[in-house]
Amino acid sequence: MRYDKVFRFLLFTFVAGSIVGLLAGLLVTGPRARAATGTEAVSVTTSGPAESDLGAKEPMTPERAKAMGANEAGQVLVLMYHLITKPEDPTALEPDYSRSALHFQEDIALLKAEGYYPITVKDLVTGSIDIPAGKSPVILTFDDSSQGQYRILDDGTVDPQSAVGILLAAGEDGNWPMRASFFPLLDVDLADRVLFGQPEKQKEKLQQLVEWGCEVGSHSYTHLNLKTSSREVIIKELALSMKKIQEMAGNGYEVFTLAVPFGEYPEDESLLAAGEYEGFTYAYHAALAVTGGPSDSPFSTKFDPMHVKRMEVHGDSLKQAINAAKKSPELRYISDGDPTVISAPADLPEELGSLLSNLGRPVITY
Ligand SMILES: [Zn+2]
Repeated sequence: MRYDKVFRFLLFTFVAGSIVGLLAGLLVTGPRARAATGTEAVSVTTSGPAESDLGAKEPMTPERAKAMGANEAGQVLVLMYHLITKPEDPTALEPDYSRSALHFQEDIALLKAEGYYPITVKDLVTGSIDIPAGKSPVILTFDDSSQGQYRILDDGTVDPQSAVGILLAAGEDGNWPMRASFFPLLDVDLADRVLFGQPEKQKEKLQQLVEWGCEVGSHSYTHLNLKTSSREVIIKELALSMKKIQEMAGNGYEVFTLAVPFGEYPEDESLLAAGEYEGFTYAYHAALAVTGGPSDSPFSTKFDPMHVKRMEVHGDSLKQAINAAKKSPELRYISDGDPTVISAPADLPEELGSLLSNLGRPVITY
């Protein structure tokens, strides 16, 4: 029968295709598996079939890295937000440290349209930048935990006009995962700024953020000025803020990052790295400044995890930062899509420093 023949032909094609795909997959993943165990720079070459034929990932080569313009030594935008206010007249002037929900929504749409993809501060500092090829990482940081950042409505849903609601909506097309870093306050006079307001929902919010894949870090306990405070008070706040966030988030969550209040570092910065208060030991592995422009790549000799630079989003500042990155594309971080190797041009602009020598994974230069 004709249909029978057609069926057999299709079955044969499917089986044969699967076998070819499987064999080719083994062929092309072999070299990478070996390369990943080395710590020296390598140039992996392969004569395997084109990626589009198989849907399998090929090992990174200088040619492929170059074709996608990969530059993982490039600069990363770390954006800083404080208050997110209700939507308003888009032409109205925003007070300092606030962004209207409408403008925030536009910021995210702009970032998506311009090829950015969200990660957290911890992802940056640990070099776990697992984003699609050709994309640039961006980090959204939220200080001071006002309710506009994360509001739960009476019916239990997330307010679509709060930052979290806007981010969730942005992710509905599958191209914007829920990734951001939050630095809540724990005890200040403004009740709205204590753990996103809504006292009965504080724990639920922290746990939900962590579950989504967001980072929750410390911003001290009381928005302490670390520059003008005594060692004892600094140690106490750095310890207790970490302890309380970890207790509330539960499930073994570990705070990694400190957003330094006012960007005022203590004279003795070793207090950030480690300390102990009443039997609780803490260690911060990253600390955020409040200014400085785009951040250096964590794979660059210029990167300082305890002084990660940030940019406040205000007025047109994000548009300007994106336009600056377009004018100097050689400075922009572009992912090769493979977090197990680091790809970058061999000749880096001076502003980017040079690639660290101890990255613990293969380096592809072109
Ligand atoms: Zn603050």
